[in-house]
Amino acid sequence: MEIQFTYYAIIEISSAPDCSRDAFFCSTLPASQGHGPSAWFPLLEMFPFLTVAAGLFLGWRFNRTRVLWAIVLLILVERVLALTTPFAREYVLLVASALVPLNLALFSWWSERGLFTMHGLLRLVLLLLQLGGALWLYFTRAGEVMAWLGRHLIENTFLHQFPLSQTSLLVILISFLALLFRFCQKIEAIESSFCWALAATVAGFWWPQDFAFWGGVATFLLTIALIESSFKMAFNDELTGLPARRAMNEFLLKVGRRYTLAMVDVDHFKKVNDNHGHDVGDQVLRMVATCLRRVSGGGRAYRYGGEEFAVIFPNKDLERALPHLEELRETISRAGFVLRGRKRPKQKPEGQKSKGRGKGTLQVTVSIGVATRDDKKTTPEQLIKAADQALYKAKKGGRNQVCTA
Ligand code: GH3
Ligand code: MG
Ligand code: MG
Repeated sequence: MEIQFTYYAIIEISSAPDCSRDAFFCSTLPASQGHGPSAWFPLLEMFPFLTVAAGLFLGWRFNRTRVLWAIVLLILVERVLALTTPFAREYVLLVASALVPLNLALFSWWSERGLFTMHGLLRLVLLLLQLGGALWLYFTRAGEVMAWLGRHLIENTFLHQFPLSQTSLLVILISFLALLFRFCQKIEAIESSFCWALAATVAGFWWPQDFAFWGGVATFLLTIALIESSFKMAFNDELTGLPARRAMNEFLLKVGRRYTLAMVDVDHFKKVNDNHGHDVGDQVLRMVATCLRRVSGGGRAYRYGGEEFAVIFPNKDLERALPHLEELRETISRAGFVLRGRKRPKQKPEGQKSKGRGKGTLQVTVSIGVATRDDKKTTPEQLIKAADQALYKAKKGGRNQVCTA
């Protein structure tokens, strides 16, 4: 089988006559000539093209440049592998199986920046530098590079059987650990997809005659994660992490005939912003959201907008939902928000108590208006309106209380 070359032979190849290096590209070599997945079903031949087209389009539309760069890198490797002479392919495999994992790890650590910005340009230059460097080394000292990359780091007969060099295996391991660490830091779909994309890319280097298929799998995983993260962005509120109003509207369509809805509004929130700044205001909203997320009785919390939240209790009437809302109101009013002095670090130093050291504690309260679905209020809009009127009553009644419609 074509893939069964070992790096024992690399030093011999590297000292072979230079005639095979005369031409880097070999136009007669078909893009895929393996016996693997792409040969099983003709439809699979289309798979890489479809995923790449979808990935590039969505990456560009949703401005997910990290995914875009990863796909561009995979296309580049696939095209070079498909069009190079057998000798050059050995070289490309050795270099790419070390460089691509490193780049994927790097991309996952990058922040999202526009393509046509200074950052985008610098990233392009970085990729071109690697490509230029690899080409320059190929035409000047391919043999030395191959011998160096293909050398054995440790003498181990088990490792010698692998179609990847030990250097590549080591780089893959380091890159994978970096990606895993990134994922633990930021548990998001795209971060996780980079780990899986690396695994698929390694499979591509393992079975290089099917790199197009494995590159397609990596692209597919990245694209699905891109869609998932865009979906999450549309349905989740970024500041509090709670589902947003759009998610609530979706849920209301399928909640059934019996449910109770509560509108929750932070009291005198404008004063918090005015007196302590917008950042403190944001933190207060996060604190309130944390309490709401833990509401008992099976309530589902949403950020409705601004400092207004909503809680839906499926299958619960007013009487059964009220105790949970009372408990929620009390929890928030007892929680208190510890204000930190301007010069104090964001993180509380270990071993210090906040009492007496901060600028004080801010009492945060909420007012709640509740309505339940009945014969008069049948649509979600009617219920929201009724809960809003009850909320208004709670505000007028002195705030920090629960009122019913
Ligand atoms: P009430 O007790 O009657 O509800 O008074 P209030 O001050 O809470 O209500 P008002 O509607 O006058 O003010 C709401 C404020 O919430 C105004 C707006 O600047 C602020 N706000 C809305 N969204 C955010 C946000 O995401 N972050 C911060 N920090 N403030 C926000
Ligand atoms: Mg308010
Ligand atoms: Mg309000």
